[in-house]
Amino acid sequence: MHKVILVLVDGLRLDTAIAEMGFLEGAVRSGKARRWTMRAELPSLSRPLYETLHTGLPPQVHGVVSNDIVRPSSRDNLFSIASKTGLRTAAAAYSWFSELYNGVPYDPVMDRECDDASHPIQHGRFYTEDAMPDVELMRTGDMLARRFQPDYLLIHPMGCDDMGHRFGGASAAYRRAAAEMDNLLSLAIPGWRDAGYQVLVTSDHGMNADGRHGGATDDCTLVPFYRFGGEVGGVADGEVSQTAVAPTVLSLMGLPIPEAMTSSPIL
Ligand SMILES: [Zn+2]
Repeated sequence: MHKVILVLVDGLRLDTAIAEMGFLEGAVRSGKARRWTMRAELPSLSRPLYETLHTGLPPQVHGVVSNDIVRPSSRDNLFSIASKTGLRTAAAAYSWFSELYNGVPYDPVMDRECDDASHPIQHGRFYTEDAMPDVELMRTGDMLARRFQPDYLLIHPMGCDDMGHRFGGASAAYRRAAAEMDNLLSLAIPGWRDAGYQVLVTSDHGMNADGRHGGATDDCTLVPFYRFGGEVGGVADGEVSQTAVAPTVLSLMGLPIPEAMTSSPIL
């Protein structure tokens, strides 16, 4: 049974991660981490895929098929399962996570900080601005890790997605956002590993050269999935589905996997 930190780097393409994220790729080459190629579900949009990552279900099954469907999750999900089991959950994440797991409507003033053990996300720190600097968000996530030692912690930086929308997925600004994210991860992950965490790094979707995502092309749907904490490093062959992330986290935490989650854990 492990504690897990999932870093969801919003809008991070697989090829950009491989090209720009030298800390992550160095860990893969040295055997400290393993990388899988992950295929995002469709539509390759944030809100549908936040729900997919946390329920193990494709959008066509969980029903959140648009960013404009604003309602709480109706499915078993990582936060509800862990919280009901008596484990501690936390998230430093975009406000859509508060809407999905702690309820609607989201009040940007009163709901931005949550410390309430009766909520699926027990310790939440939420933001609404896409331009939220990644360095601030990562520090908030690290604070949650150190202050509360959650069993499941989601850390969700938006910088890559924001730069991708503004300048396109083939831009220098987008690549720089990935490189800066890599640096922030290099400062945080060793301490989390020392604290006993399994650390997973992935994304919801990629980004095309036009600065959009949503469709089925590789630039929008291929994302990396890194694991720090396994015994095997290097690069895994083939592709894994995004619906495997939730059962993977549950399996690492030693929790039962609901029948509705039909994908096998990746590990
Ligand atoms: Zn986006």
